[in-house]
Amino acid sequence: MSADASGKNRQLKYVIIGAGMAGILAGVELRKKGETDFVILEKAGEVGGTWRENRYPGLTCDVPAHAYTYSFAPNPDWSGFYAGGAEINDYFKSVVDSYQLNDAIRFNSEVTACDYDEAAKNWRVATADGRVELADVVIAASGVLHHPKMPDIAGLETFEGAAFHSARWDHSVPIDGRRVGVIGNGSTGVQIVTALSDRCEKLVHFQRSPQWIMPVQFFPYTEEERRAFRNDPALIDAIRFGEEYWSGIKRFNTALVDTSSPEMLEIESLVLRNLEDSIADPVLREKLRPNYRAACKRLIYSWGYYQAVQRPSVFVDTSGIAEVQPNGVLMQDGTFHELDVLVLATGFRADQFIRPARVRGRNGADLDAVWAKRPKAYLAVTIPEFPNFFMLNGPTGPVGNFSLIDIAERQWAYIDQLLDGLRAGRFAEVSVKPEVMDAYEDRRIAAAKTTIFGSGCSSWYLDAEGVPATWPWSYEAFAEAMHAPNLVEYDAR
Ligand code: NAP
Repeated sequence: MSADASGKNRQLKYVIIGAGMAGILAGVELRKKGETDFVILEKAGEVGGTWRENRYPGLTCDVPAHAYTYSFAPNPDWSGFYAGGAEINDYFKSVVDSYQLNDAIRFNSEVTACDYDEAAKNWRVATADGRVELADVVIAASGVLHHPKMPDIAGLETFEGAAFHSARWDHSVPIDGRRVGVIGNGSTGVQIVTALSDRCEKLVHFQRSPQWIMPVQFFPYTEEERRAFRNDPALIDAIRFGEEYWSGIKRFNTALVDTSSPEMLEIESLVLRNLEDSIADPVLREKLRPNYRAACKRLIYSWGYYQAVQRPSVFVDTSGIAEVQPNGVLMQDGTFHELDVLVLATGFRADQFIRPARVRGRNGADLDAVWAKRPKAYLAVTIPEFPNFFMLNGPTGPVGNFSLIDIAERQWAYIDQLLDGLRAGRFAEVSVKPEVMDAYEDRRIAAAKTTIFGSGCSSWYLDAEGVPATWPWSYEAFAEAMHAPNLVEYDAR
């Protein structure tokens, strides 16, 4: 536990919600700080969050593996420049083991309610099994994309083959040599179709809106390279912190926030050239050509999708699904696809975060009511009237194609400075002032509308009013904002 100059210490009790990437991070950071009184509440029986839930064929993280790694736990053993889902999940398990976090995790403990007790200045965190944890501090690390969005398609329930959401992949269902349909062509659908394209008798990719595809190169690391990473961590740092990676991040971020920048024009030219040069059949090329700007939807990075959809057994159908029938899918143009398996790569409800858990703060504040219009949080980490309640990867944080690990680490560094004030007894509760939140949100919304995400397409980035629910400024501005909290903006008492 840390002490301030006055030597006054307060032993805090923490509840962390979720043992995915961000919850593990919070646990490790508390451990590193010498804190012992914390519990991580995890709804499932295993750690890993999105990497535990997503097990679909082809699952890969399109952030370079060495950048999708905690700064305190480099991993020389990544199998390639981009890592697969299973090895990422193993990586998180290994971090939990090496920081001996297992004992701090209560598995199968879904949080149903967090209620702030104004008199006691603590949180009552209830779980579905009827238990209650008292905590001075709540860290909500419950993830963004974990409530599967099931499509509202007529007849779906009548399908007699196997049908499942991409995040609920049923590995008992055979795929090889069968007739498979994949609905949805976000990052997930594209990865699945690429992986299945040489395995099925027939593979139909149902595409409602085309996607721009950024070409990238995948290459495995050889054993010799992995040995070199092991012997010389500077080689890992050169990838993670090097000019090539960061200049790419900054160029991409400039493009997102300045839609007429040369950086944006470069992205547009790259994806356009990829489409023109890669797809030989002019009919297929037009099917795949979006009518909105690149990176408006989350830009897809792929090294194989365009090749995959040109295989003879793969068919991209853009004519619109009329209905699902017991043995296949009927299209609006009358085409019928007889199918054995239907994969719903239809995304997630990105507006939920910690909900459906009920969260009630000070002065009767109810998170559902506060977020009725849109989920919001000051700098994406804290909400007025919810004292000592912080979020990692909460609403309106940077999304783009960045490493969410880096984002969460920066957010933790910011939150931890507020926790230092609590630990030192400088204040007993801290929450952002409502007027600071309101002014911030007005500025954020105005800026978000001008980003590429608001340039005219549908995507999970958009809230119910069509405003991008994202960090709308530069990456540097985010890093600067996370550098240190300004206590003047906080109600700290
Ligand atoms: P998504 O990007 O939200 O895509 C959902 C897809 O389903 C879209 O193509 C959508 O079409 C389609 N869809 C939804 N409802 C439909 C309906 N009723 N009929 C027909 N089509 C329907 O979801 P996702 O692909 O799962 O990806 C979500 C996010 O997860 C990504 O953007 C990314 O942030 C993350 N992710 C990351 C990686 C990685 O490598 N780092 C990999 C996978 C996922 P419309 O476009 O027409 O709405």
